[in-house]
Amino acid sequence: MAALSHIRGLEDGTSEIRGVVLSSSANEKIVDGLRRGIGALFAGDREEHFVATPVISRRTSERAGYPTTFPQLLGAVHGSQDGDEPTATDLVLTSAACHHLYPLLAGKVLGAPTCLSVEATCYRGEKTYETGRLRSFRMYEVVRFGQAGAVEQWRDRALRSADQWLSGLGLSTRVVQASDPFFGRTGDFLARTQREQQLKWEITAELTEDLSQAIASANYHKEYFGEAFEITNTDGSETHSACLAFGLDRITLALRHAHGVDTSDWPLAVRANLAL
Ligand code: 5GP
Ligand code: ZN
Repeated sequence: MAALSHIRGLEDGTSEIRGVVLSSSANEKIVDGLRRGIGALFAGDREEHFVATPVISRRTSERAGYPTTFPQLLGAVHGSQDGDEPTATDLVLTSAACHHLYPLLAGKVLGAPTCLSVEATCYRGEKTYETGRLRSFRMYEVVRFGQAGAVEQWRDRALRSADQWLSGLGLSTRVVQASDPFFGRTGDFLARTQREQQLKWEITAELTEDLSQAIASANYHKEYFGEAFEITNTDGSETHSACLAFGLDRITLALRHAHGVDTSDWPLAVRANLAL
């Protein structure tokens, strides 16, 4: 049975569809432990946690700017209500968990700093299928809204505590500056700006002997989403936001690489930490 306790398809190439995997109950126990760990990490900050669907309104995705900046990654829902040729519906697939939160606050004035979290199954039409690069994967995000300076400080603090927690799980992590795979002619410029302003940081860990991937990312959006969704602070300024995204499937894979496939062989402290 040992082979079945893997994330099917991730390590042993058994998935019939590249970049789409099936998670066993042994695997889900690890993911549950990660959810609890992230929840505990942000217990003092966050006011509410949400679980989102794998689909989101096309309008929200457009408002977030995703179809323009990442058209190569976006997936859409097509359907036919009357049996005709399927056409695009008003839904697309969730690209980033945090997109589900912005409509909640749209048009609102935030009287105090706000911190929310959300988990969603995301889709990205990735071109490559190296270990840990999935087309469909679980993302758990913590998002903080407020004044510019405070949000940036939160991003830095959140990144540090996430890195400490992940290192405490026995992962050899690195914190590196990063940029997103923006599309088109303006893509290079956007990526350069993102790097110059240090807006995106990633925590990487080994998933195989010779492959490290981002297991978490911290993004400071500045006023981007505040402007797009008309969220303001009490002084009338656009609210700033930052998110810390954990890739639950990738962290699981990094843990299996570090400690072995069978969780009963894992270090006691790690098992206790994840309640395994
Ligand atoms: P970002 O929005 O920064 O690209 O992604 C947020 C987090 O989601 C990343 O740090 C990573 O852990 C996870 N992630 C991004 N792309 C993939 C992917 O293709 N497969 C998996 N399993 N996780 C991903
Ligand atoms: Zn986000």
